[in-house]
Amino acid sequence: MIEILSKKLLEYYDENKRDLPWRMNPNPYRIWVSEIMLQQTRVSTVIPYYENFLDALPRVEDLARADEELLHKLWEGLGYYSRVRNMKRAAQQILEDHQGRLPESYEGLIQLQGIGPYTAGAIASIAFNKVVPAIDGNLLRIYSRLHCIEESIDLGRVKKEVFALVLEDISKDRPGDFNQALMDVGSSICLPKNPKCHICPIGEFCQAFKENRQRDFPLRKIKAVQKKENWTFIILEKRGKFLIKKRPPQGLLAGLWEFLPFFSHLKEEEVKILIKEKGYTFKTIKELDSSQHVFSHKIWNMKAYLVEVEDQSLVMEDMSSYDSFCWASPEEIKEIYPFSSAMGKYVKEVLSDNR
Ligand code: SF4
Repeated sequence: MIEILSKKLLEYYDENKRDLPWRMNPNPYRIWVSEIMLQQTRVSTVIPYYENFLDALPRVEDLARADEELLHKLWEGLGYYSRVRNMKRAAQQILEDHQGRLPESYEGLIQLQGIGPYTAGAIASIAFNKVVPAIDGNLLRIYSRLHCIEESIDLGRVKKEVFALVLEDISKDRPGDFNQALMDVGSSICLPKNPKCHICPIGEFCQAFKENRQRDFPLRKIKAVQKKENWTFIILEKRGKFLIKKRPPQGLLAGLWEFLPFFSHLKEEEVKILIKEKGYTFKTIKELDSSQHVFSHKIWNMKAYLVEVEDQSLVMEDMSSYDSFCWASPEEIKEIYPFSSAMGKYVKEVLSDNR
């Protein structure tokens, strides 16, 4: 029975596996990059980033020595930037402790910065053919349905239970393909809202399908309410350059650039007063469309103003003299300074010819 589940999955995989760039010319480094990029991010979003990243940094040693600004630029728009900073630290660990080669075992991989149980399982099984599960949200959903697990998949003991169940099912010859087959089933068949049970290769083993209870699973803990914050960003323009600010090295969106932030929603008159207080004389002011950015734990409701100021303004506090501020042209904003996707709408505005 167990062997049959594994056999069915592998047959499905052999006939239907997606042509993904990391499945061609696989090597441990490329698999690692893909698995980190795919965390919380759709395959279609990842593909162009993956190719750019590997063109710029084709080897572990290139990543270990990469400049942080370049890393952020390569990651710009993917979100969760700590992932790429952790990868750089892990690459340095690999050079120092493992002669530049990724460790082959789950235990060795999980010691590296930014590699958790799922990623260690995925790399160990796909790159090194180790018999180890790779448990992520997709797999938890599939197994909670296969076995009608009546407890929240957020609980540690449920994750352990699923780990043990997968370990019973996993192919001993092709563990990497088995894990990838489950990833494919999770992303295209056993969908959160409308699972396509009629074409599911493991439907005959699925208790929830038998009982027509697919939508009852997985059980989740009630999510904490996301905190809402109001922000105003002032996009200050002088002689075709824009004042931008680097965020602190720790915390949310660490090290990324943004326009001038103010922690509340400002009215146009308040912006004008602020600009004057800083010693600038404004030529024009335009309120831009509001925007929203959803983080895992908070939501930013954003307003923004594009403010052009006189070149000869008497600036009392020249913010660009601080390390974390600078005046940047649209080309520099596009090519050099990494911005978070929260700023995406306003970066587009700055890069637009029609502003
Ligand atoms: S039969 Fe349906 S619910 Fe069960 S694993 Fe397949 S797609 Fe998911």
